[in-house]
Amino acid sequence: MTKGDEKEIVLPIRRFAEDIIAAVRDNDSAVVIGETGSGKTTQLSQILLEAKFAETGQIAVTQPRRVGAVTVAKRVAEERGVELGTEVGYAVRFEDRSTPDTKIKYLTDGTLLRECLEDNLLQKYSVIILDEAHERSLNTDILFGVLKRLLRRRKQQSDMPLKLIITSATLDGEKFSTYFNDCPVFNVPGRCFPVDIIYAMEDHFKDHVSAAVDTALQIHLQQPPGDILVFLTGQAEIEKAIQRINSEISGMPEDSCGPLLALPLHASLPPEMQVRVFRAPPEGTRRVIVSTNVAETSVTVEGVVYVVDTGVVKQKHYQPATGMDSLDVVPISRVGATQRAGRAGRTRPGKCFRLYTKAFYEGQMPIITLPEIQRTSLVSAVLYLKSLELEDMDVLSFDFLDAPGQDALEEALRQLYCLDAIDADGVITDMGRRMAGLPVDPALSRALIEAEKLGCVSEVISISAMLATEHVFSAGQGPGDVLRGGARNGGMPSSSTGRVEGPRERLRELVRRAEGDHVLLLRLWEAWRDRGYSRDAAYEFGLDLRGMNFAKEIRRQLEGVVKEVRLHGAGKRPREDEDVLEGRWRKLSDDVDGTLSMSPRQRAEDARRIEATCHALTVGFVNKLARRLPRHNGYKTVGSTKGQLAQLHPSCSGLPEDDDGLTPEWVIYHELVSTSKPFLRQVCPTRPEYVLPLVAKMASINVLRLSRGRIREQVRSGGDHPSKTNAFDPEHKSSGAGG
Ligand code: ADP
Ligand code: MG
Repeated sequence: MTKGDEKEIVLPIRRFAEDIIAAVRDNDSAVVIGETGSGKTTQLSQILLEAKFAETGQIAVTQPRRVGAVTVAKRVAEERGVELGTEVGYAVRFEDRSTPDTKIKYLTDGTLLRECLEDNLLQKYSVIILDEAHERSLNTDILFGVLKRLLRRRKQQSDMPLKLIITSATLDGEKFSTYFNDCPVFNVPGRCFPVDIIYAMEDHFKDHVSAAVDTALQIHLQQPPGDILVFLTGQAEIEKAIQRINSEISGMPEDSCGPLLALPLHASLPPEMQVRVFRAPPEGTRRVIVSTNVAETSVTVEGVVYVVDTGVVKQKHYQPATGMDSLDVVPISRVGATQRAGRAGRTRPGKCFRLYTKAFYEGQMPIITLPEIQRTSLVSAVLYLKSLELEDMDVLSFDFLDAPGQDALEEALRQLYCLDAIDADGVITDMGRRMAGLPVDPALSRALIEAEKLGCVSEVISISAMLATEHVFSAGQGPGDVLRGGARNGGMPSSSTGRVEGPRERLRELVRRAEGDHVLLLRLWEAWRDRGYSRDAAYEFGLDLRGMNFAKEIRRQLEGVVKEVRLHGAGKRPREDEDVLEGRWRKLSDDVDGTLSMSPRQRAEDARRIEATCHALTVGFVNKLARRLPRHNGYKTVGSTKGQLAQLHPSCSGLPEDDDGLTPEWVIYHELVSTSKPFLRQVCPTRPEYVLPLVAKMASINVLRLSRGRIREQVRSGGDHPSKTNAFDPEHKSSGAGG
């Protein structure tokens, strides 16, 4: 889009500019409700800049997602004709493209939370816009409470009052307004044309991808021009659908239909790929944009006339009682369905094809989506609130917009106690403050601090980066496949995939050592690194090159974090940079894991560092501990309110077995998932010596005492403390987790 085009389109919010400016001038806070695409995200900040609100401080705009912050900042810089990072900038975890002179700064809600720890009055901002509030991300909900307090304190303690604006795409303005002391609400009407809703005769949840592809193709063949927007649940589905659309189209006779361009849209798409949906297609080409939930409210695609709504979304659910975290495909809410349909009526009357029945919509869809704070683990959130050290607050009575369940809060307190982050009275400890200083989740930050003591920081970082990566192995090449298909039957090709041997040979050698998944991941990482991160090396070990490059990037970022907070290897071994390590281990890992060519001394050193790594991981992942049942290779989780019985997932690599064929008594796991039945995924054997003190600590928990959460007698003045940044930001996820 050129500058000339924009002049012609006046976005709806611009027509309310004067009223909004007046309201912001006269009130501490305001709520702006506007249909998606009305200009809330890109225009509001500029309207306030033009009204000179940036003279006394910066204008901050929060986004729930990292890509959101980056793409919008780019767009606004473009609109203003300035270079990104000057007048308009952004700050996300691990990346800050702003200066003290920046006027408009887009940042993730997690980043703003961390900034609160550096300066709890957020003095540098004159205005904060909490954008996309309807998404109700966990971080946004925490910010509601934190900023509500801050409004009061800025009035008392600073000569520059703070202005807060909450924007939302759905009509929940009254609720926000009541919470923020009955502040004014603006409704910006969108340009919305009527949309015909067409329901399916039967529900298609079982195979919604095929149903969506078929519907999109039918629209292309039968309906007048206009782009199609299809809602699916994740990256893998989107890629599959696009492949199928392309192959169907190429199989059709030349002149049976016009050209169709299929484009993906999801949060893990690189920004340069994302902007493709903003570009107009060649004349006469119809586009079909296959998207996750991001197109529901956060990204507006122009030209859409047809929407295909599968009625489902991928959502995370956490059960505090069992500690089970699941990513499930669930029905969207009715509010969501209305939003999706609305995407079809932006430029002219449109049609929305719902792949579910009217009876389902009316009888079974929830009216609204449960906010994340009520369906997620609260360990990071509670640690964050604790690290603010607010004198008058214990987390159970924090002023939440929608309070999370008491059981989830108590479970978070228990876990923080087991991590030594709070003491038996619920007061944050020095360890807790150090953990809060690391922008990673509490389990990992605790593991890193322990690793520093034990001299294995580099190893723990590598393993974390690999665990954060969804696709480490190429399809059909995981350790589970290797075990089933070859390692145990003398190298026959896997019957399930029918692949010929090759890449798996090297992996098999590693899997055969039965050291568990974490150590396997470490060895694979090091083998790939020592072979120069090459494509060939990835192939040699059956690794997915894209996944490995993702792991490499995460590892680089984690290394940056560790350097920034100067987490030294204060233990037995001096801190080793990856480079130093690289030199030392390169020689060793020539024969896959290196142990063959090691001298006895080196072998002992290798065993020591692996041991240290498992120890550090055990301390950090104490809340993901499981014990084997007697005389049986099933496990029961330890620590949460009631243990959960679970099997080792078939994708697990081998574990050492004793003479009776029993696997280790104690393991830590990375995920407890419930597919057909509960499974532990990615497990690491650990030792009773490491586990038993932790289990004793668990047994001593007194939840009543923990949840009182009083601040120590010597109350800190104003809540200042040495912590620089904070551990509250799961914003960087691996690909595929939906919207
Ligand atoms: P809202 O936040 O109210 O949903 P936005 O401010 O995001 O609205 O978008 C306003 C308009 O700007 C929309 O019509 C959208 O299509 C357009 N727009 C937003 N980002 C971009 C971009 N990166 N490139 C081109 N157009 C964009
Ligand atoms: Mg927006």
